[in-house]
This record gives sequence, C-alpha cells and structure tokens, in this order.
Amino acid sequence: MSRVKDVWVFTEKQESIAELCAGARQLGERVTVLAVGSRDRIERIIAFGADRVFYLGDTGADRTVEDYAFTLSKLIEEEAPDLFLFGATKRCRHMAGRLAARQRTSVLSDIMEFLTDKDEIQGTQMVYGGAAVRTLASKSATVFSVVGSGVFTSLPEDADREGDVRAVDFVEPAYRVRCMEKRERGGTSVDLTAAKRVIAVGRGIAKEEDLKMIEELARLIGAEIGCTRPISEGVNWMGRERYIGVSGVMFKPELYIAIGISGQIQHMVGCNQSGVIFAINTDTAAKIFSQSDYGIVGDLYTVVPVLLEKIRAAR
Ligand SMILES: Cc1cc2nc3c(=O)[nH]c(=O)nc-3n(C[C@H](O)[C@H](O)[C@H](O)COP(=O)(O)OP(=O)(O)OC[C@H]3O[C@@H](n4cnc5c(N)ncnc54)[C@H](O)[C@@H]3O)c2cc1C
Repeated sequence: MSRVKDVWVFTEKQESIAELCAGARQLGERVTVLAVGSRDRIERIIAFGADRVFYLGDTGADRTVEDYAFTLSKLIEEEAPDLFLFGATKRCRHMAGRLAARQRTSVLSDIMEFLTDKDEIQGTQMVYGGAAVRTLASKSATVFSVVGSGVFTSLPEDADREGDVRAVDFVEPAYRVRCMEKRERGGTSVDLTAAKRVIAVGRGIAKEEDLKMIEELARLIGAEIGCTRPISEGVNWMGRERYIGVSGVMFKPELYIAIGISGQIQHMVGCNQSGVIFAINTDTAAKIFSQSDYGIVGDLYTVVPVLLEKIRAAR
C-alpha cells in the first residue's frame, strides 16, 4: 500500500487524537477527523495534523457518542474514505463494528503496524498472547481499523496549521442507545498512556503494603504506577487499567522502571517501545534484562530504599 488518499479518524478520547492524526498523516494524503464534543477542540485537532474536521456536534443529556453512528454511516456513503482509524476504546470498537457491518465488511482490530509496501491495506496484529503476529488485509472500499495507543507517535502541535471545518447535520438514529444509569467507579482511575514515566511492579513484590515504597519512589520522580497482570488480576492489588501488556495497556513512556518483573513477552509487548527501560530483579537470568537499557541485579527490598535515599539526598 503506498499512501492512500483519504484517511479518517474517530475517537471520543481527546488524548488519542494527536497519535491517530500523526498515523493518518503517514498513511494518507488527506486527514479528516470526525469530532464529537465541545467545538473548542477543533483548533487543537487541526494543530495535531488534521486537514479537515467534520464537526458532528456535542453529546449532552439527550445524545450519546453511539447516537452518531447513523451520521457517520451517511458520511461514509457520501465520501467513501479509503481508511478509517478508530481509537481503541470500548465505544470506538463498538462504533467501528457497527459502521463496518453497515458497509458489509469487518474491522482490522488492534493493528500494531500498517504495511505500506503492499498494493492493498494490510496491518499486523498480535495473536496467541503475543507469541505470534498475524497479517490481515482488507479489500473493502473503506477499510475500518482499531488502533491501540502507542502505535503511532504524535507530532508536535502546530498552532499555525490551517484546516477546513464542516458542521455536519445530525442524522436521527433509527434507535438510540440509552444511558440507564451512571455510577462512580471505585478506586483511583489512571491513564497510563498519558504518563511520561512509569514504574511497574511484578510478583517480586511480596506484600501489598510494600507498594508504599514504590508509591514514594513514583512521587519523587513524578511517575505513574503500573503492574503486571498477576498483580492486577491475580492478587487484585491494582485496578485493571494499571496492568501493562498484550491484554492490558500498551504505551511508550519516556522511562519505564520494571521492579520485580520477569519480562515475559505478554508483558513486554506493552512497554518495549519505551524510551528507556530500567529493571531491578534478583535473577541475573531474568528475561527482562535482555530487553532493558539499564539493570540492577539485586533485591528490590535493598535497591528501592537506597534509590529513595539517594534521590531524597539529591533534591
Ligand atoms: C494469553 C495471556 C495473556 C497475558 N497477558 C498479560 C499482560 O497483558 N500483561 C502481563 O503482565 N502479563 C500477561 N500475561 C502473563 C505473563 O505471561 C506473565 O505470567 C506475567 O507477566 C508475569 O508477571 P511477573 O513478571 O510479575 O511475575 P513472574 O514471572 O513471577 O516474575 C517475578 C520476577 O520477580 C523477581 N523477583 C522476585 N523477588 C524479587 C525481589 N525481592 N527483588 C527483585 N526481583 C524479585 C523474580 O526473579 C522474577 O523474575 C499473559 C499470559 C497469557 C497466557
């Protein structure tokens, strides 16, 4: 696939617009963002790389993001974009599936890389928990794809960029998705993909209360805390939004500190694009070391207190 003509982008998550626009610019000649929400977002969307913004309107008491499916579907029929990229949120997955079904095609989901040397749109996807990579191709007129965070790297925001803005008429859906109830989520919620520094812990941590020293380290260096899947789904010490890997968060922070983590592929695919990886592990043969830029072979219960002391002393 050489560059296609028209690439469209849809995500309800402001933070992923910049990445998706950057990816769309690589893949296509013209980038169009379908924007829902406050109109104030439009200038920034153009600054992130959109050539056109189709402004769909705001959600609000009587409209959900899902209600725009018919509006989007009509636009696709009128304009037939070559490639339509969606963020990897639940709502975007739902929207991509609905729109693709209306075009009698399917979605290329969780694409890690688009292959640009083919004469059709192809993308790669991880399978078997990260142990293999599958290549998918689509022959439909509009190719629908869900792309995870960290696949593309945002371009610097350019406030001087100019783009066209078109307000799109709302198409009343044949049926609406109704929000029955909103409930506050328990515990703290975090978006690891937005963090520049992340400290992740694994099963090397013996007790939940030992996380306090990790929290202190994170506070001192301005990092967010993540974990491996067993820490989240096994012992339940952290929420699901904090575990990193093929079935969790995939991202590219500037600094990734892995403490008491063995470095299994299912975990590493979520963080191996980080700028710098630093590992602490007692086992010289731990896989994490061959995937790290720096490492300390040592007991985290010795190493972390020394790090805390040194960082405090240096402040
Ligand atoms: C289909 C599938 C999907 C999966 N998806 C994910 C995923 O998305 N994310 C994920 O994380 N996992 C995932 N897993 C699980 C994954 O395979 C590993 O089991 C998991 O990542 C291991 O977590 P860990 O490194 O915390 O634990 P372990 O592998 O048990 O490693 C613990 C490490 O801590 C070290 N250690 C022990 N004590 C200390 C100490 N005192 N100081 C320093 N180091 C110490 C040990 O040497 C060891 O290397 C998946 C598995 C499958 C099958």
